[in-house]
Amino acid sequence: MELPFAESWKIKMVEPIRKSTREEREQWIREAHYNVFQLRSEQVYIDCITDSGTGAMSDRQWAAMMLGDESYAGAKSFFHLKEVINRLTGFEYVIPTHQGRAAENVLFSHLVKEGDVVPGNSHFDTTKGHIESRKATALDCTIDEAKDTQLELPFKGNVDPAKLEKALAEHAENIPFIIVTITNNTAGGQPVSMQNLREVRAIADRYGKRVVLDSARFAENAYFIKTREEGYSDRSIKEIVAEMFSLADGMTMSAKKDGIVNMGGFIATRHEDWYEGAKRFCIPFEGYLTYGGMNGRDMEALAVGLDENTEFDNLDTRIRQVQYLAARLDEFGIPYQRPAGGHAIFVDASKILTNVPKEEFPAQTLTIELYLEAGIRGCEIGYILADRDPVTRENRFGGLDLLRLCVPRRVYTNNHMDVIAVALKNVFDRREEITRGVRIAWEAELMRHFTVKLERL
Ligand SMILES: *Cc1c(COP(=O)(O)O)cnc(C)c1O
Repeated sequence: MELPFAESWKIKMVEPIRKSTREEREQWIREAHYNVFQLRSEQVYIDCITDSGTGAMSDRQWAAMMLGDESYAGAKSFFHLKEVINRLTGFEYVIPTHQGRAAENVLFSHLVKEGDVVPGNSHFDTTKGHIESRKATALDCTIDEAKDTQLELPFKGNVDPAKLEKALAEHAENIPFIIVTITNNTAGGQPVSMQNLREVRAIADRYGKRVVLDSARFAENAYFIKTREEGYSDRSIKEIVAEMFSLADGMTMSAKKDGIVNMGGFIATRHEDWYEGAKRFCIPFEGYLTYGGMNGRDMEALAVGLDENTEFDNLDTRIRQVQYLAARLDEFGIPYQRPAGGHAIFVDASKILTNVPKEEFPAQTLTIELYLEAGIRGCEIGYILADRDPVTRENRFGGLDLLRLCVPRRVYTNNHMDVIAVALKNVFDRREEITRGVRIAWEAELMRHFTVKLERL
């Protein structure tokens, strides 16, 4: 008999979590203005709000932290981190930042100006924010198929080469770079193929443009290339990672995802001019160049995390857990963005809460219902996250309206996945009775989903 699959690690330290009653949760979510970001973590039983900074570090990472060099300038820990990034990506220049959005802020301060157009595949919300706040445009060139949540495609995060070509033909003068997000978070944690990265490179070269990889989940993207793309099954994750980055000019990185650290990020590039330009903004925004917002100990932990998480077994354990949850949802007929992405399941709220009008935010309503059901905290990736159009100030209802259930790395067991699946089934079973959603009582101008105050209708 073939042995079943099991995790490639065992547990050395545990953190207790607590259940609550429905009555308690009703009060807590009301006090939180129906915004799960406003809940306290003790009010949550299973926390799937994000996989960002929520992973469990390994014993090797904790051990490395003891070796942190906290020197202000020239810390050994910086050079350890830089060496690992050089080796994995081939990028020579490295600037640490306190997280991914800080990397965007520093690099874009150098590269993006008013009137610019930055084409890419479904820019992440902070990426979009950093482009739009500079009065530039984030132009989404993702393949149309990504919008059809039920279509099974191996690389649903891809850039549409025709859309990109058109963007370059029309705006070449105003395009500072192209940005490709791997994996494509906003479209459902969907990977981008190596073939697609090659096509983007070829188009960029034709117009003399550079390519940035928004790399938060680059290792998961490499896993999907290895397991889904022809010609890569025998290649190691590290070889695939090196090839991906060989097709780009630089990267912004949120190390809180595939770096498996709780805080951190960086910029890396092969171009001295980008490095020199970004340096000028690193010092006032983040700090001196050999720490840029990170502790020495955190740079050590990140160096180990990057190395560990570009090994197949670690990624296989992680992605199979996400697929396990997806299989449980399939059992119950619950629709989600197919195929399951690398870090999360994106449940298609518009197909479940069909009686809730889009103006009342179905995905946010589903997020609230799942919390009330079992204390599980997901996150809306939908019409609230989409913000308003910067010109018309209208809500943007053009995209997907999803409930994202993130799976933190190396944190929960498959028993927790079972609880999530059954809780969602219970909500799903009474979906017809849910006819009203929420209205916005207060919102911020940009990235409103973190602080929005809602009223239940
Ligand atoms: C998380 C993330 C960011 C921003 O990184 P932070 O560390 O949260 O600041 C940027 N892009 C993508 C694709 C991300 O997933």
